[in-house]
Amino acid sequence: MEKPTSLIIIFGATGDLAKRKLFPSLFHLYRKGKIGNKFAVIGVARRPWSQEQFQQHVQDSVLTSLGQAEDIESFVQHFYYQSIDVTDSSSYVQLNELANKLDVQYDLNGNRIFYLAMAPEFFGTITEHLKADGLTATNGFKRLVIEKPFGHDLESAKQLNNQIREVFSEDEIYRIDHYLGKEMVQNIEVIRFANALFEPLWNNRFISNIQITSSEVLGVEERGRYYDKSGALRDMVQNHMLQMVALLAMEPPIRLTTDEIRSEKVKVLRALRPIKGEDVHRYFVRGQYGPGAIRNEMVPGYRQEANVDPESNTETFVAGKLMIDNFRWAGVPFYIRTGKRMSAKSTKIVIQFKDIPMNLYYKMDQPLSPNLLVIHIQPEEGITLHLNAKKAGQNMETTPVKLDFANNSIDGMNTPEAYEKLLYDCMRGDATNFTHWDEVALSWSFVDEISKVWESTREEKFPNYAAGTMGPKAADELLAKDGFHWWPVSDFEVQSK
Ligand code: NAP
Repeated sequence: MEKPTSLIIIFGATGDLAKRKLFPSLFHLYRKGKIGNKFAVIGVARRPWSQEQFQQHVQDSVLTSLGQAEDIESFVQHFYYQSIDVTDSSSYVQLNELANKLDVQYDLNGNRIFYLAMAPEFFGTITEHLKADGLTATNGFKRLVIEKPFGHDLESAKQLNNQIREVFSEDEIYRIDHYLGKEMVQNIEVIRFANALFEPLWNNRFISNIQITSSEVLGVEERGRYYDKSGALRDMVQNHMLQMVALLAMEPPIRLTTDEIRSEKVKVLRALRPIKGEDVHRYFVRGQYGPGAIRNEMVPGYRQEANVDPESNTETFVAGKLMIDNFRWAGVPFYIRTGKRMSAKSTKIVIQFKDIPMNLYYKMDQPLSPNLLVIHIQPEEGITLHLNAKKAGQNMETTPVKLDFANNSIDGMNTPEAYEKLLYDCMRGDATNFTHWDEVALSWSFVDEISKVWESTREEKFPNYAAGTMGPKAADELLAKDGFHWWPVSDFEVQSK
């Protein structure tokens, strides 16, 4: 396969994202031979580093992340640095000169990727200058990679979108939702559409409910300033959680093309029942962590974290019940929950099948367990199918058994980082695993109604869950009202070699 050629300009190249994700991912692609020698990277940030300092920084980032250095010297030779304040109009001319020079030097055909690894308030200014100062006037392709958050609500997202659409067309915009680069999120589609076993059952006749949990053990760390204005709903639900719902619920696309898949996902988001006004209290639960113990060590509550308002009304936990009003899903609740400072770091999807019509093996003290399909997104990657089988012995008693598949149990399988896949997709022009504007807009309209209610009513019970637990009691009651319970994430460890 032809190797992609491109100049990648990373705005915010001295920052955390570039260090932890972008440089190691590019190095992986380089080592695997997926990108050849026809690529160059310009790092942009304010601090007055020399090119050598920047190359050393790239090298250190790769070593810290991967612990190996083969080919690292030749890799870092592709990296250049421009010390620029992106708000200073005059600096883009210089940047363009370097871009033109590297274009010729590396034979890049004018292909340019602009990666905005910076705070969103700069996105508009940068894209404006890219056009005004000629950086986008290139003979090759021009693509914009943009990090979350994409706006703060629908209105601000629209404004941002209008700004960047002045310079880039929709198909040149790659909005990152790094969950879409995760191996097991991409696997949802394959599990569903490549197995005769599941697709016929994937509807309201056979599925009783679907649960998606994305829990973190960490608190807000150094992100307090951003997070206190955002909260879990905007930070996790608007993007990652709703994207997973869309992948689980969409109709089979007629082809595996970007447009066909997106169009099916958009239909799901359009079918999401809007939750407004009083209903927000019935369908959604918000939580905020107080002090508690994590691995036997006391940690502070959210309001005691750095850069957080000591009376903050921001949620660090959300649980919700989503209904998709279409033929396939009418009546099936999709429960989502996500939060910080929970007892386990885990992203899992549990598909609970309906009980069989009659239980021949029923005993008062031993009801049959429902069949479950568990998709392990992270940190373990795999699937588990929970079935009932005969307990060995004389009696016809049942016992639950698990069929496990763990990605890392396949010899030599080393699943690539999400960013590695997404960067490669972008270089090849495949936008399937990036979010389209229609998805962003629909997700914001859904989430905005909930934020509106939460922001107008102070939650007097905050903090309402202790750090190190799985969230407030109300999140359990949300399912109990429907006769269900959260499947504990700790029960679902996949057996790996
Ligand atoms: P960060 O560590 O704060 O880095 C910000 C970068 O922007 C630095 O390189 C900084 O360098 C540069 N910068 C700031 N103001 C500038 C200016 N006026 N002109 C030029 N450069 C400027 O942020 P980050 O964590 O890497 O995050 C970047 C973006 O990715 C954000 O939108 C964030 O929400 C998103 N994101 C990050 C992560 C993550 O894991 N870190 C995950 C998901 C999304 P100087 O100080 O040298 O100028």
